[in-house]
Amino acid sequence: MLIRIVSVLLILCFGAVFGAMADVSQVRVVGDGAPTRITIWTDAPEEAEAYVSETGSVRRIIFPLRGNAYSAEGLGTGGVTVWSLNPGRLEFELDRPMSVARVLRLPPTGTEKSYRVIVDLDTVSDARFSSIAKRDTRRLAKAESEAAKAAEKQAALLASAGSAKSAGRKAPPRSKGHVVVIDAGHGGKDPGAMAITGGREKDVTLKAALALRDLLEADGRYVVKLTRDTDVYVDHEDRVTMARNWGAELFISLHADAAGSSSVAGASVYTISARGEGRIDREASRNNWVIPIEDGTPERLTGILSDLVKRETKTRSAEFAELLLPELEQAGPVLRNTHRSAGFYVLLAPDVPAVLLELGFLTNSDDAKRLQSEKGRQASVRAIKNAIDAYFDRQDMRLASQ
Ligand SMILES: [Zn+2]
Repeated sequence: MLIRIVSVLLILCFGAVFGAMADVSQVRVVGDGAPTRITIWTDAPEEAEAYVSETGSVRRIIFPLRGNAYSAEGLGTGGVTVWSLNPGRLEFELDRPMSVARVLRLPPTGTEKSYRVIVDLDTVSDARFSSIAKRDTRRLAKAESEAAKAAEKQAALLASAGSAKSAGRKAPPRSKGHVVVIDAGHGGKDPGAMAITGGREKDVTLKAALALRDLLEADGRYVVKLTRDTDVYVDHEDRVTMARNWGAELFISLHADAAGSSSVAGASVYTISARGEGRIDREASRNNWVIPIEDGTPERLTGILSDLVKRETKTRSAEFAELLLPELEQAGPVLRNTHRSAGFYVLLAPDVPAVLLELGFLTNSDDAKRLQSEKGRQASVRAIKNAIDAYFDRQDMRLASQ
């Protein structure tokens, strides 16, 4: 998941060729207007909607693609004359009135490594086209202003956490309370798992994160930070870097699971696995996550101290996970053998105790309903809050007895 963006050589419709680092890797138009099919290949899930637009005599289909950062163009067929890809937008010019009959979004398969968005266009009457274009102009303006707002907010959030490349971590502002970082999994172009009842993991995790924040802030004992508080995509390394720069004392990543069988249900908690631990040093040096060791410490000691910090971090993570489980059992079903370990990227900070909580299975209808209901959400976040209270009670007691 970390290195999603790769440089690829791309073959376009009618022979155009270009190479780039981008989300859109290929565009193809086939068909005769009844329907005409557009296929867009991307290297990450793309949720953009298609909008119909009419400016004077120029008719277009527009996709706002936030992730895409470069330009290309090509010829079409079956009513599409040309298409052009520019940063933030993919447009198809039409020579006749056409509307979007359906949009299919396909994940990678065994033979097809890319994500695909398939759009079927049907020929419609002039009047029908004009009325759809009017409606879509409003929808597009709204979608673009919401996207801009979300991007702005996220930029401010990143700035407040310091640059992603900044060194060491700041000292936690202990006087104001314990710093808890809540990480709503997925977001933006990455929807996560799909719920059997409809809805997406990214929305479930965001709502849970906001509810947990409200509950913790009402307490006054905590300084709460969110890695995202809108529907926006955030890289995994940025999530960890933000947490470290905020001086996180506890990092909780919220997710919801998916399984092949709809009978699998229940919450589960992950801490870093032995295999994942092997990546900590590599990612720490790559991202400049420096463990703060007092200046002037002899060099031969810094390695030992770093190892102690890493071991302590692991112990604390496990401790929190063990406090969380009995609380989750009060809130709903939990998976058997439910404290698990995995190499999730967001668990790789060398010095921030961290857990990844799968709140339940979106592929199970009881779980999906529970996670999408206000009552179920409140039960989950109250369970997490209770565990956080117990965790910091212990920490404070330890400090007091030193
Ligand atoms: Zn997830």
